[in-house]
Amino acid sequence: MKAIQIRATGGPEALELVELPIPQPGPGQVLLRIEAIGVNFLEAYFRRGQYKATLPMTPGSEAVGVIEELGPGISGFAVGDTVVSVAVMGSYAEYALAPAAQLVKVPEGLTPEKAAAVMLQGITAHCLAYSTWPLKAGETALIHAGAGGVGLLLTQMATRIGAKVITTVSTAEKAEISREAGASEVILYTEQDFVEETKRITGGRGVDVVYDSVGKTTFEGSLNCLRPRGMLALFGGSSGAVPPFDIIQLSTKGSLFLTRPSLWHYIATREELEWRAGDVLKWAVSGELKLRTEHVYSLEDAPKAHADMESRKTTGKILLEP
Ligand code: NDP
Repeated sequence: MKAIQIRATGGPEALELVELPIPQPGPGQVLLRIEAIGVNFLEAYFRRGQYKATLPMTPGSEAVGVIEELGPGISGFAVGDTVVSVAVMGSYAEYALAPAAQLVKVPEGLTPEKAAAVMLQGITAHCLAYSTWPLKAGETALIHAGAGGVGLLLTQMATRIGAKVITTVSTAEKAEISREAGASEVILYTEQDFVEETKRITGGRGVDVVYDSVGKTTFEGSLNCLRPRGMLALFGGSSGAVPPFDIIQLSTKGSLFLTRPSLWHYIATREELEWRAGDVLKWAVSGELKLRTEHVYSLEDAPKAHADMESRKTTGKILLEP
């Protein structure tokens, strides 16, 4: 089978197309014939060596596929089922293994591309809006990178709850896309001081919560945008890792809350996975969640997909087709 492999960490060119044997499912695992692959920033962190992995590795954890073979001890799934998962073991490939405990059936009415487009980023947005800081109607949230994959879905979920959403984006084109998703105020953080703008928009009060996936370049400012006892949910580092931080600042800036959530701790039980995936897939089918899937690449073009993602050229979801 064709697969992408990282043999040595580096830039996008570290993603090499290779031939590998089709893997055999072990106990509790299924073999998937992959139909659509979700690209996420996580794979860039592994590719660059920021997150450690044993090499060589096939990157990727999000995919939609058809079950080709069941390993021992599996119930509830059958050969031929189309399923989606965020825990595929190397999804940048034509075939991959996945633990059955992490599979969810793709509902009628959703193409493999749409299911792969909404699963990981949608579940992430669901965790942030419903659990990390459970948003309430009338609250105000600041969402960085509002035209990005998570940003667009989180904006739609937050406005659906009845919260007011302020976003940051880098270009006028992205601002338009973010507004379409429901942001009532959009700040061009490449040109404007987003702290000053947020203070102005909120009449000096500050926002209830900041959802920050940008990290290094926004962290300090994000803390300064919060109202007393507000929360900074730092869930990514697209611009780089946040340097060490003096915790006393949380007190001096207004008894703030700071958390660094990871999706995996929010879908640790089957119940939580089914709740979040069920909501997200249902809203994708009904059209309540609008998906942007204009960035589709072939498997061998994985290096270009990463280069475009890292140079801020993309909006919404990035997909690979095997
Ligand atoms: P995005 O589509 O949001 O892409 C990243 C965006 O970040 C860019 O489009 C860009 O938007 C913005 N950005 C700001 N500075 C930089 C920079 N220096 N380099 C690159 N991009 C920059 O990606 P995703 O929606 O897939 O993921 C967003 C973040 O969420 C990632 O950091 C990811 O790791 C994290 N994440 C965390 C999860 C968790 O469990 N904690 C789960 C899923 C994702 P603009 O041009 O508008 O500035």
